[in-house]
Amino acid sequence: MTSNTSAEWFARALHVTSGGVNSPARSFRAVGGDPPVVMARGEGPYLIDVAGQRYIDYLAAFGPLVLGHGHPRVVEAIRTQALQGTVIGTPTPSEIELAEELTASITGLDMVRLTSTGTEAVMSAIRLARAYTGRPLVVKFEGTYHGHSDAVLVKAGSGASTVGTADSLGIPTGVTGDVISLPYNDLDRLSEVMRRVGDQVACVLTEPIVGNMGIVPPEPGYLAGVKEITHAHGALLIFDEVITAFRFHYGTAAELLGVIPDLYVLGKIIGGGLPAGAYGGRRAIMEYVAPLGGMFQAGTFAGNPLSSAAGLATLRVLKEESPYARMDRLADRLATGILATADQFRIPVTLNRAGSGFTVFFGPRRVTDYETAQQADATRFARFHRLMLERGVYLAPSRFEAWFVSAQHTDAEIDRTLTAVHDAFSMLQ
Ligand code: PLP
Repeated sequence: MTSNTSAEWFARALHVTSGGVNSPARSFRAVGGDPPVVMARGEGPYLIDVAGQRYIDYLAAFGPLVLGHGHPRVVEAIRTQALQGTVIGTPTPSEIELAEELTASITGLDMVRLTSTGTEAVMSAIRLARAYTGRPLVVKFEGTYHGHSDAVLVKAGSGASTVGTADSLGIPTGVTGDVISLPYNDLDRLSEVMRRVGDQVACVLTEPIVGNMGIVPPEPGYLAGVKEITHAHGALLIFDEVITAFRFHYGTAAELLGVIPDLYVLGKIIGGGLPAGAYGGRRAIMEYVAPLGGMFQAGTFAGNPLSSAAGLATLRVLKEESPYARMDRLADRLATGILATADQFRIPVTLNRAGSGFTVFFGPRRVTDYETAQQADATRFARFHRLMLERGVYLAPSRFEAWFVSAQHTDAEIDRTLTAVHDAFSMLQ
């Protein structure tokens, strides 16, 4: 069967995959329900659909593509590794080198275990915290997203919120009964809960800068407070840096914010565009992981040589070229231009930015947690999304996601995006 348009491809997808997608965050249900665009390929800061239409890409595949699509050094590393083997099932040099680079460049990461996805890494970090402390409870925060394992699909953000399944069906009460979800940026609530049940809490798990209810940074002093309270009750602090590690500087958000956790979870950028995840932290904790210790975690594709080679190549480019100041400047230009245009057309928006990532919320005056994030106008966002798409700008199809500027974006793409924003806002009134 030949198909030429997105609509034709998507009609085929609908027959064979649930909702036509392999991850709900890719669906356009939350932005009007049109068939999503089926992309044929990516090129630097662009996406090109199956009909040949080009879009400036701010999705970055939900975060990994800090170097844009097809960076020559990443492609070459994948090619070289593919010729040597795609999966081998023994220790291989690229995974060892990636682990060395991660532990050398991240404060508080003495040892690491590579996985195939962020989901697995979070799941394993939680199991490790439970193994190490001998306690059952997990404290997390509403609107954060930590992948799709059972324990973290309680008041979850990202795609889970977007499609109305923040509390997924199919999670046994035996699991949810051991998870406490609290408002982000609210130290009083955390203190109060920890006073009551802190001696049963294995870990407090959070994104240090939330990316999954849209970008929501911590209030000043919040993360230091979370760490103090967590440790006062003998629990471990886990930072899920699947989005944030290597996004804002060559290292973690923890280091930028001056609060180092007991365990880190990493993903996205460290796989250079191939599937990857990792968890790690202090040596004394990591020694609980099998075969050294009794906490089991494994994976046929864990530490995959292709992913490790792509991740390592990406990290090397980031280290050598340090594109962060340039990405920040472009994101700042874009954010400032969006706010000025919103002002011009009297469209109330709040824009939360962290370095090269930001979210435009339509409506609420401040967004500091899940409750305020949900006040953002879904209908207006859906219309904006459609208008931008028609003008060749691809945004994540959810008001709870971020725009990501990559190292391949230039002032030319920012100019074109601002023109599109001007047009779109003029039609939103
Ligand atoms: N943690 C965070 C903060 C994420 O944003 C995501 C994915 O978006 C995950 C974990 C899950 O990672 P993966 O999709 O690789 O399983």
